[in-house]
Amino acid sequence: MPTSKVRLKAILDTGHTFAPGRLMNKKHGQLGIQKIPALAFLLWHDDYGYILFDTGYSRQFFEASQAFPQHFYRWGTPVSTKPEQAVLKQLNQHDISLADVKMVILSHLHADHVGGLGPLMDRELVGHLSEYEFVQSLAGFNQVRHGYLKDLIEPLDGRLQEIDDRSGQVPFDEGGLTVVDLPGHSQGMFGLAFVDQRTGKPTLLGADASWTQAAIDDPADGPIRAAGIIMHSWDDYLASMEKLRQYRKDGYDIILSHEKRSSQWFN
Ligand SMILES: [Zn+2]
Repeated sequence: MPTSKVRLKAILDTGHTFAPGRLMNKKHGQLGIQKIPALAFLLWHDDYGYILFDTGYSRQFFEASQAFPQHFYRWGTPVSTKPEQAVLKQLNQHDISLADVKMVILSHLHADHVGGLGPLMDRELVGHLSEYEFVQSLAGFNQVRHGYLKDLIEPLDGRLQEIDDRSGQVPFDEGGLTVVDLPGHSQGMFGLAFVDQRTGKPTLLGADASWTQAAIDDPADGPIRAAGIIMHSWDDYLASMEKLRQYRKDGYDIILSHEKRSSQWFN
């Protein structure tokens, strides 16, 4: 294995929403409403610098969900986020400036992953263009039903670059980041794999491919089938869950975007 150039520097809790426990874990999920954080991740690449994987919520989310029909998004998933939880605010607290962020990688374009993009719009933005095009093909209410907020996505027009076009180039070079496609939850969602310099362990940031670790461990403990209505493709989702299980068998640490964690910084 080539020497790793990447380390996970921080897990950033940007706010949370609520969902019924049984929706996510049909076998052992707790009854009642669970708090679901939206996490973003700060990575360091030796030859490239700081990279953000997703941006979580921010106050901008509330502005974007102000108008009808976007307001339905807030009724469906009530959100709580404090100004100091915005990704850039959290980076600034650790003396990392906007200019230090060299790239923002977007696992997918759901509102709880692009909500903090506002001040980062002039950074290098990469993701799957197919998902951006898919969102454009949806009428207003369908965008909201699929978890997208138009006002958060429109500024990406002409700015989002195809991540596959960067394949083999820094920071997607040897010892760097590997894109792992995990579609189903959304049209073109993907995760990032790397060996973490700090722990020496192969690590996969799995985005929303699973909402909980328990569902990876036990195929019978995943979300209820009805959760499929908010997914792009249930079959692809199940295939991506199997892919996660294979990565786990291969010894990967898997970190998910909505598992219960608080902000945490690493050396
Ligand atoms: Zn999502």
